[in-house]
Amino acid sequence: MNALLLSAINQIAIAEQPTPKPEPGRSVIKVLASGLCGTDRHIYKGEYPSNKPVILGHEFGGVINSPSPDCKYSAGDLVSVDPNIVCGKCIDCLAGRTAFCPSLIALGVNMNGGFAQYALVPDTQLHKVSNALNPLHLAFIEPTACCIRGLDIAAMQGGEKVAVLGGGVMGQIVAQLSALANASQITMVTRQRARRELAISLGATDSVDPVEKEVESKLQNYDVVFECAGVVETFNLAQKIARRGGSIVVLGLTPEKTMVDFNPFQLVIKELRIQGSFLNPLTQRRAADLVDSGKLRLDPLISRTLSLLEVPEILNKPPGQSDVKYVVVP
Ligand code: NAP
Repeated sequence: MNALLLSAINQIAIAEQPTPKPEPGRSVIKVLASGLCGTDRHIYKGEYPSNKPVILGHEFGGVINSPSPDCKYSAGDLVSVDPNIVCGKCIDCLAGRTAFCPSLIALGVNMNGGFAQYALVPDTQLHKVSNALNPLHLAFIEPTACCIRGLDIAAMQGGEKVAVLGGGVMGQIVAQLSALANASQITMVTRQRARRELAISLGATDSVDPVEKEVESKLQNYDVVFECAGVVETFNLAQKIARRGGSIVVLGLTPEKTMVDFNPFQLVIKELRIQGSFLNPLTQRRAADLVDSGKLRLDPLISRTLSLLEVPEILNKPPGQSDVKYVVVP
């Protein structure tokens, strides 16, 4: 089969690989869609640890080609893959904090993933969806699961005023989830006009360009601020625009050594809650059901579909302005 193999930092190429065969507890899926994510760029450049050689691609799904003898699904079923494999036995797993499992390894990072025609996937990681689902939407289930984690942390009751900082794919999904959670206002804060307009077309109520003058005066008293950009500016802005008693949920990943301003006086007098949101602990099933339900509008988030051959060139240049999501169709 054809696969995109990362052999060393900055070295990725199409390689002929043996087509995997089913094993006890592991089924072979034919990959139908695999999202290209910022983390893939970081792995490629050596900014995020991974095993090598490895087939990248951790946001994927497909159709079961050869089920393992004990797989509860059948050949031909459409499945989403949760790439994050945990032990299920440690104190964190047992407490539902699976993202902290010390044994956590991920398909497409530490083990072969979805930038290939076929993938060998532990049965525990498969979530069936209906065969009527647009296969390209399989690439959105893992990012949606990470966004659902953010919404879980925000614990919205309905009626909240929400700001979303960063209009990439994560911010666009978080804005849509906030609408489904009955937020009264959803303000998309992102620099590119196209992304602001996209968010409005998908249910955000208003939008603001963060580089405008006196932007803070336009952004006040948010019950929940979702930081979805992973830059210093948005972390600082979030603290200023959250209302007293408000919450800041940080999904954006800054480079590991980045430090930000932090105002402990404001933290106390506003009784702010600031919490990170990491990966998809036990949210993949809900994300699969939500994507399957058609309640998220995902087609407008697909900027381009790519063949495996096109990926190396894409990884070698920054994402195109206004592009939101590339989906690889192996
Ligand atoms: P993305 O496509 O890069 O989107 C982030 C967007 O933030 C940028 O494209 C940019 O859009 C916007 N931005 C940059 N500077 C800004 C500023 N000063 N003010 C407002 N917006 C700004 O990334 P993504 O795929 O959506 O992911 C978002 C973040 O989540 C990344 O840091 C990613 O690593 C992280 N992530 C976290 C998890 C998790 O489990 N927590 C999972 C997946 C991804 P404009 O050009 O329009 O400003």
